[in-house]
Amino acid sequence: MRATFTKLSLILLVLVSCNPTSKLVTTQDPTTGNLKKHIEFLADDKLEGRRTGTKGEELAREYIKEQFEAIGLTPKGTGSFPQAFTVNEGKTMQDGTLLQINGTELEKGKDYFCFPYSPNVSMEAMPAIAVPETDMPWFTDLKEILEENKSNPHFDLAEAIRSNAKKAAKQGATALFYYNSSAIDDKLTFDPKDRSEQSPIPVVYIKKDAAASYLSDKTASLKLKLTIRIGEKKRTGFNVVGYIDNNAPTTVILGAHFDHLGYGEDGNSRHASHDPAIHNGADDNASGTAALIELARKLKTSKATHNNYLFIAFSGEELGLYGSKHFTENPTIDLKSVNYMINMDMVGRLSDSSKVITIGGYGTSPEWSKNITPEYFVKNNADKKTAPDLVIRFDSSGTGPSDHTSFYRKDIPVLFYFTGLHSDYHKPTDDADRINYNGETVIVGHILKLVESLDGTPKLAFTKTREAQTTTSARFSVSMGIMPDYTFSGNGVRADGVSEGKPAQKAGLKAGDIVLQIGDFTISSLESYMQTLGKMKKGDKVKVKYKRGEAVLETMVEF
Ligand SMILES: [Zn+2]
Repeated sequence: MRATFTKLSLILLVLVSCNPTSKLVTTQDPTTGNLKKHIEFLADDKLEGRRTGTKGEELAREYIKEQFEAIGLTPKGTGSFPQAFTVNEGKTMQDGTLLQINGTELEKGKDYFCFPYSPNVSMEAMPAIAVPETDMPWFTDLKEILEENKSNPHFDLAEAIRSNAKKAAKQGATALFYYNSSAIDDKLTFDPKDRSEQSPIPVVYIKKDAAASYLSDKTASLKLKLTIRIGEKKRTGFNVVGYIDNNAPTTVILGAHFDHLGYGEDGNSRHASHDPAIHNGADDNASGTAALIELARKLKTSKATHNNYLFIAFSGEELGLYGSKHFTENPTIDLKSVNYMINMDMVGRLSDSSKVITIGGYGTSPEWSKNITPEYFVKNNADKKTAPDLVIRFDSSGTGPSDHTSFYRKDIPVLFYFTGLHSDYHKPTDDADRINYNGETVIVGHILKLVESLDGTPKLAFTKTREAQTTTSARFSVSMGIMPDYTFSGNGVRADGVSEGKPAQKAGLKAGDIVLQIGDFTISSLESYMQTLGKMKKGDKVKVKYKRGEAVLETMVEF
């Protein structure tokens, strides 16, 4: 489950039944022991949190592959079970980046950063701070420009910095150093996803404390050494894909992500302390991965053979649904033949008292409500005399903070099984001993029954649903109503989807469009998009520049 959406706002459509006093349904099914074995392996410290692109992810992948093999699945990755994909993390100040003033080396990131659009150069110079000379680095205090524009809502500081660098280069500057001696917070940081056009000269920001110690005497000349090494940061992740070929015209996809947060290096941890700690992710999502393996085992011998079955363990989910997105863009089966997709993310914490499970994607096909009715559950209830095994909350949306979203975007009916958020979510305490193994066994049984009950029925019809709410709209007073593509690595913000009835849709924006400018603000990355939305107010009418295919278009958006 992705961290960006920690507050799930789930619409409660139907509450099937609620009997909090009913007792736990125990089971002798070998599935329970198998689930325990898988989760204990995947959530062991040895796997170091299964972060995408690490040794721990590789160990998890090997384990899933061995399980798939032992069950008798056919490899359906690229060549074998794995399917590789690239996670582009944007730009980074690589080793070799250096700033030395008067013989002292400043600390990269802490004392200074160079803007990601700086060219890679090496230089030595003796500039005077106060005097802009030809063929020398220049120094600019942001104080004046910040104070002048203090109450100007149209002022785009990032754009001013870029255009000043161009101007300075034309006038002979070889580099531009910024600092801020004012009390106004300029909020400038190194933004790895900034895809602005490369600047003719390096642009460097010296942070407050460093500026106070090195640039306080404005009449001084500095002995300066600067090397810039901006590079791309990339990782390779792997999905694991196995197949049961029943020679059927349609295929059912079951999926669960197996990656997690590692030591929390990617900034998606909710661990209060900043010390690195292994995030075992037993519920998120060793639980779904274990359920996936057990469903593969059950479906391999099932009499329900009117579909083929594809089992995908996704990686890169925690970074932004990278693995599932890569699969749907590079499918190893024909997506047109996909009947429906079921995603399991965090299915290990069924409460024995409430027994609540949330099933998302309920609105993505009219067939779901025909098959997953309250009557269906009463009928299939293991303990008919008392209460049902599960109390189901339905959420209609086909989108949400997990991999089913990628399939919904390809017009495939989806379901998303989820036992709910808890206090260990994205913390090092999400451990195997807190999993409800009997509860998860009930969920596996439920999914199996559902798949079997749909065997032989015609391919499911797809219906579009509302978009699930994201933090973009929760955090700001206005929302555009676009679902940003977190895996997009070009300039601007690409819309994965556009919400019905929201400002972007009303202005004619469509999925696939890339937003380049909102009002006076250039959108160079998701970060600048968020900052710009933070400046907008309800009722604001602004021009939005966007790219559709090769064309750059304009429209008016009213917030
Ligand atoms: Zn997660």
